Amino acid sequence: MKKSYLADPNGFYGEFGGAYIPEILYSTVDSLREQYLPIMESEEFKSEYMSLLNDYVGRPSPLYRAARMSAKYGCELYLKREDLNHTGAHKINNTVGQILLAKRMGKKRIIAETGAGQHGVATATVCALMDMPCVVYQGALDVERQHTNVERMRMLGAEVRAVHTGNGTLKDATNEAIRDWCCHPQDTFYIIGSTVGPHPYPDIVARLQSIISKEIKEQLAQKTGRDYPDYLVACVGGGSNAAGTVYHYIDDERVKIVLAEAGGLGADSGHTAATIHAGSVGILHGSRTLVMQTPDGQIMEAESISAGLDYPGIGPMHANMAAQKRATVYAINDDEAVRAAYELTRTEGIIPALESAHAIAALGKMSFKPTDVVVLTVSGRGDKDVETYLAHKEMAGEYGRF
Ligand SMILES: *Cc1c(COP(=O)(O)O)cnc(C)c1O
Repeated sequence: MKKSYLADPNGFYGEFGGAYIPEILYSTVDSLREQYLPIMESEEFKSEYMSLLNDYVGRPSPLYRAARMSAKYGCELYLKREDLNHTGAHKINNTVGQILLAKRMGKKRIIAETGAGQHGVATATVCALMDMPCVVYQGALDVERQHTNVERMRMLGAEVRAVHTGNGTLKDATNEAIRDWCCHPQDTFYIIGSTVGPHPYPDIVARLQSIISKEIKEQLAQKTGRDYPDYLVACVGGGSNAAGTVYHYIDDERVKIVLAEAGGLGADSGHTAATIHAGSVGILHGSRTLVMQTPDGQIMEAESISAGLDYPGIGPMHANMAAQKRATVYAINDDEAVRAAYELTRTEGIIPALESAHAIAALGKMSFKPTDVVVLTVSGRGDKDVETYLAHKEMAGEYGRF
């Protein structure tokens, strides 16, 4: 059989993945595992999903040739503009799909976890659209730090539950969402926001985000006469925008994959979210993957200027791509990301999300031939990050003097 970097039937990517769940969730997760492919591959699902992506999310998102950035880096750089989606990022591609799955499985109630609030907003949005009750768990510290997104979720009709355990961040919110799910396994659908969690979630999320690489294929063929790039570049928190960006190219070794994880103050500094660099094999939120942990297996707190990348784990698909050397992974520090955000803003007039800025910064670590076609996914827009950018002008180098 040809080697594949996609999930095997048991949800393993090499040695990573699987479903390590409490007994009480077994039948719930098992029925999801049995039903997701027949539902997602049905014509009825595909047509409803595609019509929402087109008319509600605003797809296809443009593939934009960034002329000034291309000249600067000596390559043909194309930006995949997920920042132009409804609600401002790629996350809506996934929540639209999962709510359709939940409805078809007869679920009556939606729960989700959120860190910065982006996935919470994307989930609250589709719950408003589909008239489903929605509870979003968010760490108490994040509720405080991400006030605008909390208000957006509430306006959309979701109940935001602040989680006071642990450090009050994403990992604690996820634990609480799993606890809720254990109490209501029959009627509740848990919409997970990234390619993490027990099988089949990483595969569900990767498939729903794969619209990104499907469009890249068509758009590249149209614009360059060749349907594959030399490089794909994306940032990784849990890994969903990267999974979507690489999905249709993952087994095509002509295409090099570059992932940018959040270095925080430095991958070796102890203040980092660079899980692939600083993590080791462990089990987190139902999956065997790379995890930042103490020698005795306590999960460590992740640290990054970017709330969306601030997670001590990584999707099993990406752990495997890194272990097999299918992907090159750079840890991008906070200052490099802020500088890259200013650079894209001044060079192309696009203010990227802090998360996406990590992918831009990776360009500076690579070297290109002038004919190289590079596709970089701008996972979200930077409106939510303007205050952070302005507060850290000192990190922006020549661009910060204004
Ligand atoms: C949440 C988020 C990310 C990180 O999540 P992935 O699952 O790794 O894609 C990246 N960019 C933006 C804009 C986000 O909101």
